[in-house]
Amino acid sequence: MRALSTLFKRSFSHGVHPDEFKERTEGLPTQRMPFVNRYVLPLHQHLGAPSKAVVSSGQRVLRGQMIAEPGGFVSTALHSPVTGWVRDIGPHRHVDGRFVPAIEIEADPYATQRLAVKPALDWKALSMEQLIAEIQQAGIVGLGGAAFPSHVKLSLPEGQRIRHLLINGAECEPYLTNDHRLMVERPDALIRGIQIMREKLGAAEAVIGVELNKPDAIDALHRHILPEQPIRVVSLRVKYPQGAEKMLIKSIFGREVPAGQLPRDLEISVNNVGTVVAVADYFEQGMPLIERVVTVSGPGIAYPANLIVPLGTPVREVLRFCGGLKEETREVILGGPMMGMPLASLDAPILKGSSGILAFTAAETARPKEYPCIRCGRCVEACPYFLNPSRLARLAKARLFDEMKAFNVTECVECGSCTYSCPSGIPIVQLIRTAKDSMRRRQGKEQ
Ligand code: SF4
Ligand code: SF4
Repeated sequence: MRALSTLFKRSFSHGVHPDEFKERTEGLPTQRMPFVNRYVLPLHQHLGAPSKAVVSSGQRVLRGQMIAEPGGFVSTALHSPVTGWVRDIGPHRHVDGRFVPAIEIEADPYATQRLAVKPALDWKALSMEQLIAEIQQAGIVGLGGAAFPSHVKLSLPEGQRIRHLLINGAECEPYLTNDHRLMVERPDALIRGIQIMREKLGAAEAVIGVELNKPDAIDALHRHILPEQPIRVVSLRVKYPQGAEKMLIKSIFGREVPAGQLPRDLEISVNNVGTVVAVADYFEQGMPLIERVVTVSGPGIAYPANLIVPLGTPVREVLRFCGGLKEETREVILGGPMMGMPLASLDAPILKGSSGILAFTAAETARPKEYPCIRCGRCVEACPYFLNPSRLARLAKARLFDEMKAFNVTECVECGSCTYSCPSGIPIVQLIRTAKDSMRRRQGKEQ
């Protein structure tokens, strides 16, 4: 841990301090991944209703062309990442191994792959409703991992307003450096995106929260913010999960978002740096969300990298571009090590919410032997949401779901701080996650 982080107190209560492991990629400039032959775009890669395909098998598509429209208000559009042909619309392997409806596109090897974009949009001339509709059509979602449709976040109920636009540049997950590189390499685009969102929301100021382990990003932002712009950069202590929305609000504004409420109830809108850059790219260049920055790292990777990857690229192809997996690799994770998901198949595609691909060897994936709970309270000390993880784990094992609800399991963001801190090796977050899945399925059946 860097000594600098101890000098500052901008933080929240509880949380943990996992090793960062960012040194492998934090200094590597972002490269563009070459086009591959085949792309798979699941229709459901954001929170909410799946998108609805508007193309058919065999159809020619252009890079940037809409291939699926929003399936409702809490849903977004999907665009082709390449010029080519729709090869199939049907079940394809998803990240968790299930088969889900997806559009498969074969790239045209002779096409220029020039973007089929609309001209830049005069965002100042758009009403808030028009801007929200454009962001939905652009397919923009939260790129920090949650993939929550951004236009929904910007749609405020009658009478509500936003005072602070909070930009999440914490990137607290170990290994990941994709947001870090965006802030270093594209601070101008980030600031222009902030300008669009701040002005349209009518927010008095924008605040960018960045952990202190990214001094070059903090410096780049300071150099690009003009004195007359109401934008502040706030340095944050290095701590996990600093990037969780409610933790970020606590660290920066010292305010708690009460259970069951949203940041907007405190007149705050939180957006990830990648999301804001995507907004700038759409309004200035007409580019919908067809690619994202992905960190490829971990001891099992031959050549770690930060890459701009077209959505739908199979993980196998990204790994091949990075020199392939080392023989001793045992597990590949999509996302960060704390909240990411182990991949059931390397054929799974890069999704809008895929911030990283991490390859781990036996040393990192060895599960500790599980012992009975010794009631040490470390998980309670670690939980940033002030839950009682040990009790939730016990209730999850006993499948006492109603009791779990009574103990606020819905507030759990599955950050994994409890599991990380447990000396008995109890897979607390995994038990909670499985229980929440069962609860969702039960609720679905009842409905
Ligand atoms: S109970 Fe949930 S929110 Fe609390 S530490 Fe565990 S995973 Fe994180
Ligand atoms: S950290 Fe582990 S051993 Fe300690 S109270 Fe929590 S569940 Fe029990």
